[in-house]
Amino acid sequence: MTDVVIVGAGQAGFQVAASLREKGHQGRVVLVGDEPGVPYQRPPLSKAYLSGALPGERLALRPQAFYDKHGIELVCGRAVGIDRDRRRVALADERELEYGHLVLATGTRNRELPVPGAKLDGVLGLRTRTDADALRERIGGARNVVVIGGGFIGLEFAASVAELGLSVTVLEASDRLMRRAVSPAVSAHYRELHERRGTRVLFGASVVALHGDHEVTGVELADGSVLPADLVVVGIGVVPNTELAADAGLAVDDGIVVDEQMSTSDPCVSAVGDCAVYPSRHAGGPLRLESVQNAVDHARCLAARLTGAAEPYASVPWFWSNQFDARLQIAGLGTDHDEAVVHGDPEAGSFSVFCFRAGRLVCVESVNRTPDHMAARKLFTAGGSLNRDVLTPGFDFRQHLAA
Ligand code: FAD
Repeated sequence: MTDVVIVGAGQAGFQVAASLREKGHQGRVVLVGDEPGVPYQRPPLSKAYLSGALPGERLALRPQAFYDKHGIELVCGRAVGIDRDRRRVALADERELEYGHLVLATGTRNRELPVPGAKLDGVLGLRTRTDADALRERIGGARNVVVIGGGFIGLEFAASVAELGLSVTVLEASDRLMRRAVSPAVSAHYRELHERRGTRVLFGASVVALHGDHEVTGVELADGSVLPADLVVVGIGVVPNTELAADAGLAVDDGIVVDEQMSTSDPCVSAVGDCAVYPSRHAGGPLRLESVQNAVDHARCLAARLTGAAEPYASVPWFWSNQFDARLQIAGLGTDHDEAVVHGDPEAGSFSVFCFRAGRLVCVESVNRTPDHMAARKLFTAGGSLNRDVLTPGFDFRQHLAA
């Protein structure tokens, strides 16, 4: 049986290991990660863990006993090179791991803010448990919190700290929140939600410098204004960790390029999760997604192939984000929709936006409407669509599917 070495012990790497064992893989399974401790989930870092509602031990995807029981070897170390001819991975501490099959699950890292002062004390990102712990320590003493970037992570962080009673300003360079991922109706709803809780949201805000000697004291915008700040959180997107793959001569194009089976151009090397760009049936072209669903489903698809039950990857993309008491759930891909129909009651905080492209339903964004979300996933999984004319005020998505 092939020995599988997995580089990156995040959501996707963990799932490859767990699914291999679940599907009866008998060879060695080695999971190499450069973060301390057992693999953990990231979503609570900007939500319940940050606010203190979720204790640290509940972050773990599984306890150590799980790895012992299933013979999954956890190796703490950083992979620094791949020798594809000899099928070996080199670690920074000069150990070498031999593989029959290599899985790259290296995820992403935060994009750095390219302005003077970005390295001052009090300027932090949020990707790892270490980042979240550093933020938790700072939050207690902070008076003026500035969040750079009105995407999911920046907004979840802003919501968590606003709930703790802190003064927060969110700076967004574009003209609406979560622009890359949601329709204007959802952006507008979340703007209102944050502003109602006292958060200031500035659009078209371009940061040119961070001020301070050692500690950050202010954020300077392109119009010359300076906002006071003693804690700055930078959430301006991520870059995929592709260097290992590129150095080993594998194709990279804003992600490690894989086929519908998660294989790179080397049949002995696969890539999964945030770091992988794959041919998406739903996008109709290459896609790299940053979500738990994508990491888990890629991993399951790969484990099936490695255990002899290959199926092309076809999972429906879905995502969630919790901010205040609003649970946003997205099914499908709506980035280039040309028509959006709001169904439900935004005023009451419960509605869905049905997004169409050329008359075909491509995405459903639901705010506190989980039944719509689940129905949308079911519809997309079955390859179905919906005629926009059925979206009358009394429309019930679940009943519609059952009919
Ligand atoms: P990662 O989880 O990033 O894991 C990659 C791992 O590989 C990391 O531990 C990294 O340190 C390690 N690594 C990289 N290079 C090497 C190397 N050379 N050697 C050894 N190890 C290496 N998604 C949702 O769907 N819903 C949410 O609500 C949500 N909230 C989020 C909140 C936060 C704060 C963050 C940061 C992410 C959130 N996500 C959410 C995204 C989700 O967590 C990611 O999509 C998911 O973790 C991707 O899994 P991955 O295994 O591909 O990458």
